[in-house]
Amino acid sequence: MADILNACELEIDLFCRGMRIDPSSTLQQDARFLSRTRAGLGSGLELVIPGDLKDIWMNVPIEEDFAQDSPYLLMKSPDGYLVRDEKKQIDYNVQIPPEPPWYAGQTSQGTPMHKVGILQGTYLGIYISNSCSFWYHSPSLGCRFCTTGLNVGVNEVSNKDLSDVVETARRAKEESGVTFVHLNSGFAGRDRGLDIMAPYVKGLKEQVGVLTGVQVTPSPNLWKYDWLVDCGTDHFSFCYEFHNPRFFAELLPGKEKFLGQRTFFNALEYTAKKMGPGRVSGEIIAGVEPLEDTLRAIDYITGLGAFPTICIFRPTLGSEMERHPSPTYSDMRLVMEYMWDACRRNNIPIGVAPNIEVSLIVSPDDARMLPKRDFKWRMYEAKLKAASRLVKGRFSRELKPHTVAGDPNRYPEGVPEPVMPMSEEATRLARQEGVLGHPVGH
Ligand code: SF4
Repeated sequence: MADILNACELEIDLFCRGMRIDPSSTLQQDARFLSRTRAGLGSGLELVIPGDLKDIWMNVPIEEDFAQDSPYLLMKSPDGYLVRDEKKQIDYNVQIPPEPPWYAGQTSQGTPMHKVGILQGTYLGIYISNSCSFWYHSPSLGCRFCTTGLNVGVNEVSNKDLSDVVETARRAKEESGVTFVHLNSGFAGRDRGLDIMAPYVKGLKEQVGVLTGVQVTPSPNLWKYDWLVDCGTDHFSFCYEFHNPRFFAELLPGKEKFLGQRTFFNALEYTAKKMGPGRVSGEIIAGVEPLEDTLRAIDYITGLGAFPTICIFRPTLGSEMERHPSPTYSDMRLVMEYMWDACRRNNIPIGVAPNIEVSLIVSPDDARMLPKRDFKWRMYEAKLKAASRLVKGRFSRELKPHTVAGDPNRYPEGVPEPVMPMSEEATRLARQEGVLGHPVGH
């Protein structure tokens, strides 16, 4: 490893090794409220690392056991914060994003806004439903790395009220410049995930004017994605986590039992084709399954024109995998450079949406700092600049409140019967639960 890391390399190393906090740091007054709300991943400290191409936003692990052995120490100096690599005696200047004023605000119903949604990087993340029904099985069928069943509903409001969501998003847009609201939920059972999200996306489009993303377990009823787009969804993400089917089955028992990996692939393939390059994400975790499987996942996702969202595995406290080792820097650097190159080869438009910095992952846009800046690097940069100019008009229209055609309370007329192939077991359970077979209207 070169001694001095660039901003993206430092991001990767901090994800892998975490960071300790020196007593000189006064985070209570300087930092955003620490919140364990999103499968434990957002449990760290939000940090900005200035880079030559862009500032990098990240959420550094600080609570986990491995972080206590990290060579990195966050310190406060008269000039601001720095991260010191105590082993190599190198200091990196960083910034701690302050808590936005609206975190202390309340909605008109008296709900604290930080319990409705929180900033993760520069976008607003809202966990719409308090529950993931995988956690209600005995023994639990929750994903083995996840702590959602332990956190949500404790730190957050359980069922989000639509007007609370709209008011919070409006304040976040006005005061923090939020352009993207990401709506997330665990497994809702009975194919309810997209139905639950529909009123929120429409409310956000019509009353706030933001880009919207939806992340729920995939639906076998593919026509529902068309309906959600009509209701105002700009982006879908599919967390299938592991490309290797054995790792998928063993570490995601609920997803294996009720959905099957193929269901994720079908929904990803359908929406990627429908929505075009970069509008859909395939989300995976790197650092648990063999490296070749992670690279295969990147090829698969980018080959569809979808955006690779790659989390570096974090052994979150309280999860069943809390003792699993954190991955190595060298492996993760290789993965992230490969991800950038796969985006380049498949012409994925990275970093073209306005002001969306994601702190939980190394984004392909961050990974632009990893490769050699040769001719192919410069060509891709030029294409991305041109793409940004092309989509500017579309984004500025989307950022104004406007009417959307879809009706979240009514399915469209004449939708076809679902025909998606699922695993035999998943199909049997889906039929038993009444998920397959199209219900007309709500
Ligand atoms: S689907 Fe898995 S990762 Fe998501 S909330 Fe449920 S258990 Fe956690």
